Amino acid sequence: MNSASPRIGIHGAAGKMGRALVQAVQAHPALRLAAAIDRSDAPELGKDAGLLAGGKAAGVTVSGALDAAAFDVLIDFTRPEGTLAALESCLRQRRAMVIGTTGLSAEQRQRIEQAATQIPLCLSANFSIGVNLCLKLLEQAGRALGDAFDIEIVEAHHRAKVDAPSGTALMMGEAVARGAGRNLKDCAVYERHGHTGARDRETIGFSTIRGGDVVGDHTVMFLGDGERVEISHRATNRMNFANGAVRAAAWLAGKKPGLYSMLDVLGP
Ligand code: NAD
Repeated sequence: MNSASPRIGIHGAAGKMGRALVQAVQAHPALRLAAAIDRSDAPELGKDAGLLAGGKAAGVTVSGALDAAAFDVLIDFTRPEGTLAALESCLRQRRAMVIGTTGLSAEQRQRIEQAATQIPLCLSANFSIGVNLCLKLLEQAGRALGDAFDIEIVEAHHRAKVDAPSGTALMMGEAVARGAGRNLKDCAVYERHGHTGARDRETIGFSTIRGGDVVGDHTVMFLGDGERVEISHRATNRMNFANGAVRAAAWLAGKKPGLYSMLDVLGP
């Protein structure tokens, strides 16, 4: 590591993902942890980000002042309103941004797309390498099975998760729908209750489980006559997301403005 190493800022540094990200940046040989930011009323302000993450001291304290922080790439795992505020700050200062926050609205995504004409942005609802491989397999499976099999997506997460279905389940739905030649917007079913009638073959159904400390389980089922194919991913701890997001930050440093995904980071 030298003074030319990209300087990384973590937005949401006091959160579950933020702490994992601090550890992942500290362990990365070519990146420097330069800033740790959270809400201006977070109780963790002033604490050393490395110690807070349960590791060694980072010499960087958690701050609530995003505009005053110096970094080249910001990694944001917060809430949509935090992400959008950080986006405006990064735009003003022409800094790159990796966005992992989920639950973004269509308007918020649109604002991110606009911003990507001016700064490099990498957006993914899931930075795990395994999930991104699943996305490729799911598109292929959608193409091969979509005409004859019913498609259902089941996901489980910890009790504190605030959005449903998960951003990853939606990405998986988009991948399958793309393969099957459908638009997820037109065929997604998010709720079933009461007299639903028989299943419409063109639909893609979502089921959500919330509880305990589940880091993230996803299964896409292709249900046919006399057989069933399932593609599953289970995350067992948060470091897989953190390492993927940090890899994306290292890749993004110095890139041209544009909206990139984890699939771009991983390459063909
Ligand atoms: P968390 O609640 O543990 O942490 C969120 C942190 O963001 C907290 O420290 C909170 O104080 C801070 N925050 C909230 N609003 C803010 C704001 N307006 N400005 C600045 N900071 C703010 O949540 P978490 O489990 O760490 O998850 C954070 C986000 O990351 C969620 O949207 C979650 O779904 C998403 N996530 C994405 C991936 C991925 O791979 N893309 C993986 C896991 C989690």
